[in-house]
Amino acid sequence: YLSRHNRKLYVLSNELQAESRFRRLLMDTLPDLVWIKDPDGLYLGSNERFGQFFGAPEHDIVGKSDFDFVDAPLAEHFRKYDQRAAEKGSSITVEELVRFASDGHQELLETVKTPVFGDSGELIGVLGIGRDITERRRVEEQIRYLSQAVEQSPVLVVITDTEPKIQYVNRAFEVTSGYSEDEALGQNPNFLSAGETPATTYEELWSALRDGKSWEGELRNRKKNGELYWESAHIAPIVDASGETTHYLGIKVDVTEQKQQSEKILYQARFDQLTELPNRLASLERLAQMIAHDRRRGGLTAVLFVDLDDFKKVNDTLGHGTGDKLLNKTAGRLRDSLRTEDTVGRLGGDEFIVLLGGLELTSDAIAVHPDDGNSVGDLLRKADAAMYQAKNKGRADYSLFTSQLNVELQRRVTLEQQMIGALKRGEVAVFYQPQIDLRNGRTVSVEALLRWDSPKLGSISPVDFIPIAERNGMIDALGLFVLEEALQWVSRWRREIDPDFRVAVNLSPRQFRSRTLLEDIDGAIQRAGVPPQALELEITEGVLMLEHARVDETLGHLVERGISLSLDDFGTGYSSLSYLRNYPFDSLKIDRSFTSDITDDPADRELVVAIITMARSLELRIIAEGVETSEQETILKQFDCDLGQGYLYSRPVPPEHIGPEISS
Ligand code: C2E
Ligand code: MG
Ligand code: MG
Repeated sequence: YLSRHNRKLYVLSNELQAESRFRRLLMDTLPDLVWIKDPDGLYLGSNERFGQFFGAPEHDIVGKSDFDFVDAPLAEHFRKYDQRAAEKGSSITVEELVRFASDGHQELLETVKTPVFGDSGELIGVLGIGRDITERRRVEEQIRYLSQAVEQSPVLVVITDTEPKIQYVNRAFEVTSGYSEDEALGQNPNFLSAGETPATTYEELWSALRDGKSWEGELRNRKKNGELYWESAHIAPIVDASGETTHYLGIKVDVTEQKQQSEKILYQARFDQLTELPNRLASLERLAQMIAHDRRRGGLTAVLFVDLDDFKKVNDTLGHGTGDKLLNKTAGRLRDSLRTEDTVGRLGGDEFIVLLGGLELTSDAIAVHPDDGNSVGDLLRKADAAMYQAKNKGRADYSLFTSQLNVELQRRVTLEQQMIGALKRGEVAVFYQPQIDLRNGRTVSVEALLRWDSPKLGSISPVDFIPIAERNGMIDALGLFVLEEALQWVSRWRREIDPDFRVAVNLSPRQFRSRTLLEDIDGAIQRAGVPPQALELEITEGVLMLEHARVDETLGHLVERGISLSLDDFGTGYSSLSYLRNYPFDSLKIDRSFTSDITDDPADRELVVAIITMARSLELRIIAEGVETSEQETILKQFDCDLGQGYLYSRPVPPEHIGPEISS
């Protein structure tokens, strides 16, 4: 019996052992912290995870209290909630931030505290199951502020499921679209479509998303109030841990304003603001289209240039407001006098272009495709040549492009090409023409005049090449070249001929645009080692008609330095007295057209007398240009003109020929 009884006990104890081992295993495998404390707060036992958490093996924990592991206030806090669970008689859940006395690091625990009672109802202790929720809380935090960021973002955010039904919209979506969250949720996002986005766009979008790729593009949508708007959208799949698409995320910006702005810019890039006519760009594009059309269908296209003679004078005398009105009127009249299929464009300033398509006759148009040219550039050059000719014929006139013009045009084109590099190739030189003191016949100064000898075109007059240099910008380099040369030579003449010898250099209106003009002049004077008084700058009235503030300032600076200014070609332009009074000129040059006529035209003589008298009263030095005969000289002397310049004394000559005596 006994042995049977023993055997039974043995089996029982084995079973008990097995069961307790199993429980132990279970406890230690738990990712949670498990412990039990007696009613006095002393640990009765704990699992492995707990030991790891507090950095102590179980045998070091049993019999100890929280005061051994954490700060006293925290240990008291633990104790308080243990007691509360005991009093309540059932589980309570507490969040506890555990700060370790050992190294000060913190972990957030969520703990369930459950009182454990014996068979007779006495309290055995409090069982704690704790879970480290630091990471989970961090993620929750992150989700909280990310979702706030999304909610408050000015960018529209829409999330759909894969169906696609809208699952989420943010505040910006509601504000922009006018639809509330309630109205949007559950809808297919295409409920916003204005029906104006091409079907191919949507096909592209869905094919990208189905391939797990994102899509970017612009969509035209409609707000709740019917208004259309442009969305710049970025749509991407949201995938779960296994890579499966669960949602689509749409991030969108309302770009309607930018779109409108860029349309406006596009309009401004093609239309002239003042007259609302197509501008140069748009006109030339239209011409190219017309030429292409002619090529396919046959037909003629005429190009007309129209400009207003002396438009500048309107601006200068009546103001820009009036000038603008005139341009507008002109644009209107041109438009009214043409067929609807014709084009009037404004090329700039007072230049208009008229394009007449589908013509049958070549006559009555300026340059015609295909008779006069086959490309836009060709036709424009030819129309320009005809315009040039009309101007030369004495204004208020028109001209047609002819083959004679073609020859001249060819020459102009060659000339323009040859000018490039002419300075470097040493084809340009400066000649000097003496200016004679009419009282004693001595050469007191010279005028520097450019000469260009082209091996291809022969010698070219500055009257022909200066305007081209002004247009292609070479005038700046040419101007500097003349200045350098002239100042170097005057330095020598001041030593060898007369210490007061001076040189006059012509300055083109275009040169006033150069920001370095003053520096350049200063530099040249310094390099030559002469005082500024050795230099005189000749300018025409054209300069004074440029933007006033800048010119005034520059002239002021020049005079401050002691450089003299002389007004060239007086009598040919405005010949306005006010210019002479308002600008700091030292001398006035009577244009050679007056000089040549003083001997036989009493009216011209009168005029020259008047000019001299007036200049005297303004204390200006007077120079007569183009003195060719001794009769002219006699009359000029008689009228008390100061200086004479002209073939009578000398033609412009190379610098080596300049001396105290006239040697011609
Ligand atoms: P301008 O400044 O009025 O120069 C005087 C022009 O009259 C020179 O023509 C000169 O050769 C010419 N001339 C001088 N005496 C007589 C004469 O007795 N009878 C006749 N019929 N003509 C005479 P050129 O050298 O052909 O220069 C023409 C214009 O080119 C100059 O007129 C000036 O406006 C411009 N020019 C010449 N060199 C330069 C320069 O270096 N820079 C600039 N910006 N313009 C220049
Ligand atoms: Mg001159
Ligand atoms: Mg002159």
